[in-house]
Amino acid sequence: MVEVKNQVVNLKMYIDGEWKEAENQQTRLVYNPANGEIIAKAPEGTITDARAAIDAARKAFDTGVWSGISAQERASYLLKIADKIDSYAEELTELETMDNGKPLREAGFDVADAAACFRYYAGLITKPDGQTYHVADPMQAMVVREPVGVCGLIVPWNYPLLMSVWKIAPALAAGNTIVFKPSEVTPVTPQKLFEIFEEVGLPKGAANMVMGAGAVVGNEIVSHPDVDMVSFTGGTKTGKHIMKTAADTMKKVSLELGGKSPNIIFADSDFETAVDYALFGIYAGSGQVCSAGSRILVEESIYDQFVARFVERARKIKVGPGNDPSTEMGPLVSADHLEKILYYIELGKQEGATVACGGNRIVTAGLEKGYFVEPTVFVNVEQEMRIVQEEIFGPVVVIQKFKDEEEAIKLANGTIYGLAGGVFTKDGAKGLRVIKKLRAGITWINSYHPTYNEAPWGGYKQSGIGRSLGTFGLEEFQEIKQININLQVEPVGWFSN
Ligand code: NAD
Repeated sequence: MVEVKNQVVNLKMYIDGEWKEAENQQTRLVYNPANGEIIAKAPEGTITDARAAIDAARKAFDTGVWSGISAQERASYLLKIADKIDSYAEELTELETMDNGKPLREAGFDVADAAACFRYYAGLITKPDGQTYHVADPMQAMVVREPVGVCGLIVPWNYPLLMSVWKIAPALAAGNTIVFKPSEVTPVTPQKLFEIFEEVGLPKGAANMVMGAGAVVGNEIVSHPDVDMVSFTGGTKTGKHIMKTAADTMKKVSLELGGKSPNIIFADSDFETAVDYALFGIYAGSGQVCSAGSRILVEESIYDQFVARFVERARKIKVGPGNDPSTEMGPLVSADHLEKILYYIELGKQEGATVACGGNRIVTAGLEKGYFVEPTVFVNVEQEMRIVQEEIFGPVVVIQKFKDEEEAIKLANGTIYGLAGGVFTKDGAKGLRVIKKLRAGITWINSYHPTYNEAPWGGYKQSGIGRSLGTFGLEEFQEIKQININLQVEPVGWFSN
């Protein structure tokens, strides 16, 4: 078991290259989800703090201390950040586990991925882009990409480090300056990331971090006229609010929102592989993963066999504190979130669904102060039930039955969401046919969850607008400009006098 240092860390915000408390000195307590102990005090930022960060980012953008340096220079900063992440990997992994609750092996994976993401964008920004057009002489036309300006980046708590990096790395690579806000629930690892920014000597004002409530600090970032773009990851309800607020200043918005993703298991799939990935699809991250396979759709002829095997294995998942290396599933992130998950479990029962396994908070000795819930399975569910339609965002899965391919697709697409989805079958043509019918942005055939910095991440329908990662994730943070050059400088002669 990795020792958790028993001390409360005083976090600070990072504004214009300085570490700051909230201007009114208010703080918010941060808890370890595994035992409910206080691990940090974070500044409860105010509108004044948010404005100071926005002013710093605006000044840094307009003076060109970051946007005006070459892409190669920006890339070298990003590579130094990646190296620092690697050198602090152990500390970052432990912090992430303490901050969010996730098991060390998941946190370690996130940290390695964060370093890889900075390296990817350091490489991408120095590669050829832009276009030239064949137009009539004497004109020459071309397209260049430019940074958007000051970008407000707002992230949730489920991947405190990785969700931050998915935004910060491409935003900085493109030459933007940023005002970043971590979730108020998990600000510990993001602070460490900003310490790294200071260590590598990022120019003052290029990267600013404010902490505090979404409705206060977040709202100021979204509504302030000096912020040119908002890139938000979080719940669909918050995303809708952000889109409406951003409309007043016509900001560019990029929204990565919730999901209720289907995982379709055909009778001709490799049975044990399908069960295994279905478990991984829902219980990795304790189900607090936007792309989680939270609706399993199983072909009628193998339904009972699938449920029996899935439940048998779900019961054996080792739930425990993230810092115990033998833990397979950690706690939920907070006491509030625990309440939400228990509410949905009760709701499912009231709606008439049957709990096939789990369904309870875990209060066995050693876990009673943490926010642990049993891996939970609902069967006898109907498509219109709220537990089928709404994102629960915990270790709770519904297993539905379908007759044929057509019904599988209809059920799979039958929610407001369209983030992710999987198909299991040995029939290659069927697998691709069904995936192409899914209204979702992130999909798998005979797999679930692995994704890559190189590939675009994002949703259809109410799961969001725009894409993170890959070349698409860089383009989100760029404006596109056409430049038309006259190669024969003489009057146009349109008017006679
Ligand atoms: P949330 O929407 O409650 O909060 C996300 C962030 O928005 C937090 O930093 C919060 O402080 C801020 N915020 C809240 N109200 C705001 C406002 N009015 N103005 C500006 N900012 C505001 O989400 P959460 O509970 O932190 O995270 C869980 C959600 O995130 C789930 O729905 C999950 O699916 C989603 N998520 C999506 C992706 C994706 O890539 N699509 C990835 C991770 C998480």
